[in-house]
Amino acid sequence: MRTPYERPVIQKLHSGLMNKFASSPNFARKVRDTIDAIPIAELVERFGSPLFVFSEATLRRRFREVRDAFTTRYPNVVFGWSYKTNYLAAICAICHQEGALAEVVSEMEYDMARRLGVPGSNIIYNGPHKSLASLERAVLEGAQIHVDHLDEISDLEALAVKLGREIRVGLRLNLDTGIQPQWSRFGLNLDTGQAFDVAKRIHREKKLIINGLHCHIGTYIMKPDAYGVAVEKLVKLGYKLRDELGYDIEYLDLGGGFPSTSRLKSSYLPAEMALEPIDVYAEKISEALFNTLRPGDFPRLILESGRAIVDEAGYLIATISATKRLPDGRRAYVMDAGINLLYTTAWYKFTIEIEKEVRGINEPTVLYGPLCMNIDVVDEGVLLPPLARGTRLILSPVGAYSVTQWMQFIEYRPAVVLIDENKGVEVIREAEDISDIQRRERLPTRLKLNY
Ligand SMILES: *Cc1c(COP(=O)(O)O)cnc(C)c1O
Repeated sequence: MRTPYERPVIQKLHSGLMNKFASSPNFARKVRDTIDAIPIAELVERFGSPLFVFSEATLRRRFREVRDAFTTRYPNVVFGWSYKTNYLAAICAICHQEGALAEVVSEMEYDMARRLGVPGSNIIYNGPHKSLASLERAVLEGAQIHVDHLDEISDLEALAVKLGREIRVGLRLNLDTGIQPQWSRFGLNLDTGQAFDVAKRIHREKKLIINGLHCHIGTYIMKPDAYGVAVEKLVKLGYKLRDELGYDIEYLDLGGGFPSTSRLKSSYLPAEMALEPIDVYAEKISEALFNTLRPGDFPRLILESGRAIVDEAGYLIATISATKRLPDGRRAYVMDAGINLLYTTAWYKFTIEIEKEVRGINEPTVLYGPLCMNIDVVDEGVLLPPLARGTRLILSPVGAYSVTQWMQFIEYRPAVVLIDENKGVEVIREAEDISDIQRRERLPTRLKLNY
């Protein structure tokens, strides 16, 4: 067979141009032929491509690393699994087995937790939009509700009257911790005094009881100090609520936001160099707690870490379906997976590995996804050797926010498998077919076509 003609190109070799550490992970050719000892070829043969692969061993290891960073420093720590980060039932079940409560931010996620068997009393109900029906259910089932705004407080006060009982709530707060941009759209502002004013109103009405304080200052927070600031401000408010209004603040929930090893597109440094380990975050938080809490006080510390726990456990195997040379000379590949499966590709740069060693010179390469949409670009310039059609690429870490934010736009969503700790591989979500896409549609009889 003749190989297709390709216009020859001259590529300037940037062999001396590295970063200030004299190396860059982009320059090292990365090969990955297995995930948890299961060959990539075998995974694709059995389950197709593209394919999401989760490692149970990595998920449990990361969960324990993050958890232990806190439990070894503070005596009263609980984790809440952030459903929106990854709400595949199998992933949530593993986190619950590791001891996490369910942290949900919508009625849909609340339903998911209950369907998994999580009791209401193990659910933290966050989010700016909670339907009345779901609030009532959450109250009756004993979930811990974090109120976001005054309208929700009114809803809950009306519910308290209807049910003839007081309802315990936590206050979601937003505050200045030095992180830009400040997430001010969720919860009540602490710094302006709004939160305390609202607490006074709640106190006057005597229908709700404030028993906790919550904040989630952002995601992929690269400054551990910000959490120390958050702790100081929450503890201070907690004592003000106790001293002036008589509320017993049983817990402080600091949300999530700890970074994963994913790399922001804007980051010059690789994640391992740009980021502090989780222990530094845990140290800042526990240090701030010990510095500000009154002697003998150990309110429960709740953490809702999402991406830091699950991101590294997820891989996406994709296949090159076409090779192209762009008019500007750049090499480009079309893959069977793109922004439809990796919404996060808009902000993060993934590690891209090849299934096997390939000879040839690395060139900056554009990786396109399968969509007939200009935005479907997974990488603008990853250094790759010449790759043949059919080559498998492994993208990671993709465990966080991918299998929740993925979309059924143009393409079916693929299977998701889990490799267990004994090297067994199980499907935890089947590949979709046309019935999944059209199950809810109704075609009016008059529009039935007669070909
Ligand atoms: C999204 C979210 C989390 C998890 O955030 P990560 O950045 O993934 O750790 C935790 N708490 C709340 C309220 C959230 O909305």
